[in-house]
Amino acid sequence: MSEDDPFSNALAQLASVADVLAIEPEYYETLKNPRREVTVSLPLKLTDGTSTTFVGYRVQHNNARGPYKGGLRYHPGVRLNEVKALSMWMTWKTAVIDIPFGGAKGGITVDPARLSQDDLEILTRKYVDALERDIAPDVDIPAPDVNTNSQTMAWIMNEYSRLRGHNEPAVVTGKPVELGGSEGRSAATGRGVSICVREAVEKFLKKSIKDVTVAVQGFGNVGSNTVGCLMDMGAKIAAVSDVSGGATRKGGTIASSFEDLIAASKKLGSVCKMAGTEPISNSELLELDVDVLVPAALENQITEENAKDVKAQLIVEGANGPTTPQADHILEKAGTRIVPDILANSGGVLVSYFEWVQNLNRDHWSEEEVNGRLESKMTKAFNEVLQYSVKENIDLRRAALAIAVNRVVAAMRLSGWH
Ligand code: NAD
Repeated sequence: MSEDDPFSNALAQLASVADVLAIEPEYYETLKNPRREVTVSLPLKLTDGTSTTFVGYRVQHNNARGPYKGGLRYHPGVRLNEVKALSMWMTWKTAVIDIPFGGAKGGITVDPARLSQDDLEILTRKYVDALERDIAPDVDIPAPDVNTNSQTMAWIMNEYSRLRGHNEPAVVTGKPVELGGSEGRSAATGRGVSICVREAVEKFLKKSIKDVTVAVQGFGNVGSNTVGCLMDMGAKIAAVSDVSGGATRKGGTIASSFEDLIAASKKLGSVCKMAGTEPISNSELLELDVDVLVPAALENQITEENAKDVKAQLIVEGANGPTTPQADHILEKAGTRIVPDILANSGGVLVSYFEWVQNLNRDHWSEEEVNGRLESKMTKAFNEVLQYSVKENIDLRRAALAIAVNRVVAAMRLSGWH
């Protein structure tokens, strides 16, 4: 099995809970593959006059518990197997946080940094046109992921509404607040990650969040909001990074305030060039001597090769699939605790669910209400996973996965899938 193939890794994770699950073999077999995989070809004349045909995907893994739900990624590395893995992880994520959705994921193989905003808008609209019959508020609801944001979601909503002939905000989540987006959605994934960091620090390290150092890889939606929330909680952010590299500050925190950090990264175009910091590579960041490591960029960052060099006692997975199964074994033996992605970064899809509920009810909740509900659902899910792991004497990843798979199979069974 290739350690680089996210779908092989997702299947290996599923296999790792087979012995603790009380499910029939036919359900296990069904869950190994998505229900639908759609590949679309997107020809586009770019504003620079050249023509290219992009490839897009939407993979719908399982909808036993509710409509398919999952983000849309724009990245040159997007491949069908990556989207398949991400769609399966979405099924587990919506189940572990216990919201009435299934799992899906989408992607376009594109480097968005090379396209103008106009090109990105047309590409997004063509993607919606090609998938017009595959998405809908009660069928499949996309959301932001790597290199897509609330603007991308606004284009999706507008194109879908244009095709349907009426305004349909519930077809997509992560929209701008002005178009029916939820208060608190943009920070939700990072807020959920930081709640998991706080809970895990108290339970496993027996420390207060104020007394720990944290390194965060990735400074996009998830990474930056995790840093912001952790700074608010009083944690010391020892290092941050983005695609251009990382920065650390010996014996101190990386910046005196989150606002300073955001301002510096905007001005310099990267967090790795801030005055008074020491430059480090992304791989060096993963090996720093900190209490907590939060990978919040891409998958396959902690592997068989570098797992033995990870010094953090606690890893909280902001990104999807940042730790390979081989690395998991090494870290488990070393006693490193890992709060798995399907639990740690589920705050985003949770608030997406809140957004969808508000849209269907033509309602708008305050940020306090959204954050209050996020806090209580995240801590409940964290404690359920922790208790299950203690009861079954298994790690948190297998506990979260087992809870999720059991919930999905219960819905499949009751609906008579086999
Ligand atoms: P983003 O595009 O906003 O940010 C990605 C960040 O990673 C950027 O800072 C980028 O510079 C950095 N990066 C890219 N390639 C890198 C590399 N090779 N090494 C180091 N850093 C690199 O994306 P995001 O929405 O923050 O998503 C990050 C991760 O979190 C992904 O795995 C995504 O699937 C997952 N996730 C996102 C959400 C969400 O709500 N956005 C929800 C759940 C999970």
